[in-house]
Amino acid sequence: MKSLKLCDTTLRDGEQAAGVSFTRAEKLEIAKLLSECGVEQAEVGIPAMGKREQEDIAAIAELGLPMKLTTWNRSVLGDIDKARSTGVNWSHVSIPVSEIQLQGKLGLTPAEGLNKLLRAAEHGLRLGMTVSVGMEDSSRANMHFLVELVNSLYKEGIRWFRYADTVSAHHPGQMAERVSTLLGAVPADVELEVHCHNDFGLACANTLSGIAAGAVWASTTVAGIGERTGNAAMEEVAMAWRHLYGGESGVRMELLKGLADKVIAASGRSVGDAKPIVGQLAFTHESGIHVDGLMKQKSTYQTFDPAEVRRTHRFVLGKHSGSNGVIHVLEQRGLEVNADTAGRLLERVRVYAEARKDTVPEYLLVQWLMEEQQRAQNAV
Ligand SMILES: [Zn+2]
Repeated sequence: MKSLKLCDTTLRDGEQAAGVSFTRAEKLEIAKLLSECGVEQAEVGIPAMGKREQEDIAAIAELGLPMKLTTWNRSVLGDIDKARSTGVNWSHVSIPVSEIQLQGKLGLTPAEGLNKLLRAAEHGLRLGMTVSVGMEDSSRANMHFLVELVNSLYKEGIRWFRYADTVSAHHPGQMAERVSTLLGAVPADVELEVHCHNDFGLACANTLSGIAAGAVWASTTVAGIGERTGNAAMEEVAMAWRHLYGGESGVRMELLKGLADKVIAASGRSVGDAKPIVGQLAFTHESGIHVDGLMKQKSTYQTFDPAEVRRTHRFVLGKHSGSNGVIHVLEQRGLEVNADTAGRLLERVRVYAEARKDTVPEYLLVQWLMEEQQRAQNAV
């Protein structure tokens, strides 16, 4: 299976998440970590947003990272000039491609939209930048128009096109079909990128489906942060591509958790404890049956070893725990317990979990063990 390439947009679309704003220091650190992680290209901001944003972008460019950088721009000549001034050599030039957005947002016909895009892309090329083209709301666009657009821009020298499922209008089957139809109607060296949003929880699935159908680039954000319900999460895309599709991405999986922790902290919001790969609960087990299986043979309840992302299984005690779980947790602390005592402790675990709707903290289990041992001694 082929290797996918990541164009990470944490610093552009990720920052568009409600209430998220990164400081320059945070942006610089995130950019360094993205590069270290093996991301091929990062989209690092929108120069048209103003001087401060342009200076932030320039500061990231000055880091001289091995990762390619690009900026997001509307099809407006002045925006492209601002992009040039940041020192970033790539320029992503975008236009809505669905009639709903072209007409509703810009008041343009498809032909006028294409013309506007062509002029902006040519301007970027004239300024010496490598240009990629963004097709906003691709999923609701007419396919004939998309083919015409890609072929027209190809003639100008553009090779990289972003197919954006801006409003989550595709399921994975539609994504695969549309990507392969588009690629079948344009020159073979066109590189397609898929950019998916998560309004139905399908961002990762749609991204992988598009890649499997022939797209080369996956647009992602760390931990999936982004507008509304977010974007395809980098760690989910990279890990699922490896484990479910047997492909590669060049991502250093062992660095994903550290990167996600940094981005989540800088975003000032939570992505939820159950977020795959990077969430606090991603490798946490309570069920007695699962814990028992995992202790006997890891492969019973895992598709990949958490060590691959520098994490470990964590067993917690709650309503669904079994006495083996109790014994295991105490053994981890160097405490031995017989089956009888473990059974009594389990009773207390269940009562506590049900009353508090929570798991039992380990210190409390240890305290209960002392109490049980004291009681046994008193009885003698
Ligand atoms: Zn987006």
